[in-house]
Amino acid sequence: MVKFHSVALLAGLSILGSACGTPEPETQDTQQVSFEEFRASAHQEPESGGFVVDGDIFLPTESELREFYEQAVSGIGTQRDSLAVYYSGGRDIKWTASQALNLTYCVSTKFGTHYTRVVNAMRSAAAEWEAAANVKFVHVSSQDSNCTNRNNNVVFDVNQTNSAQYLARAFFPNYGRRDSNVIISTSSFRNISPWTLEGVIRHELGHVLGFRHEHTRLTTTGCYEDNAWRALTPYDASSVMHYPQCSGTQTGDLVLTSTDRSGARALYP
Ligand SMILES: [Zn+2]
Repeated sequence: MVKFHSVALLAGLSILGSACGTPEPETQDTQQVSFEEFRASAHQEPESGGFVVDGDIFLPTESELREFYEQAVSGIGTQRDSLAVYYSGGRDIKWTASQALNLTYCVSTKFGTHYTRVVNAMRSAAAEWEAAANVKFVHVSSQDSNCTNRNNNVVFDVNQTNSAQYLARAFFPNYGRRDSNVIISTSSFRNISPWTLEGVIRHELGHVLGFRHEHTRLTTTGCYEDNAWRALTPYDASSVMHYPQCSGTQTGDLVLTSTDRSGARALYP
């Protein structure tokens, strides 16, 4: 796949910060804080060495963290207007039509007793995006016992972390193989009501398809990140990609709205 790391990269996927879904909307303050302060506020994953910001946005290296910071600082006040695709370097960050129809992944057997639950949640969350747009996620179960970020037989791996810094996180279509993973925290296996594991994965797979956080479209949400995105639909405060704690209106589980479906269809017709 293409690695197109030019501007800010947002990776992530997951949803939220603490175990019960109250991520701190720290992004809006990046305009006042120094890079050093911003870096100190980011969670550095011990496993990958990468950084997680804005709840579930994964930045594989410090230089990418700095780019993200600089873009957030320079982008304030230039928001455009809903489902929004990651847009950088003058182009959409998305899969080609053929890649989009073969998004292969493995689910690590290291999930142990949660393995089957993760397999099923991935399948059902993927099915919702597949019903909306011309995309296809393919579970390659033969790779599950060797499901690492070095496995080149799949596009991405699904793995577990014990970190409680987020419920899950993902990646964007321009990430290299090593950084293309959906990481699910063991926190997600507890009661995360009103969310469900499926709902969290629906959100994460939205990032995998290239969708940004909906709440970064308006500075008034209090969770503005940057302007590296392009609108696909009108702003949707109920979007599956919108954190409820950022002035979102979806108070139940994270579900695709009709606007999300049409935005996905617009990107992957
Ligand atoms: Zn997210």
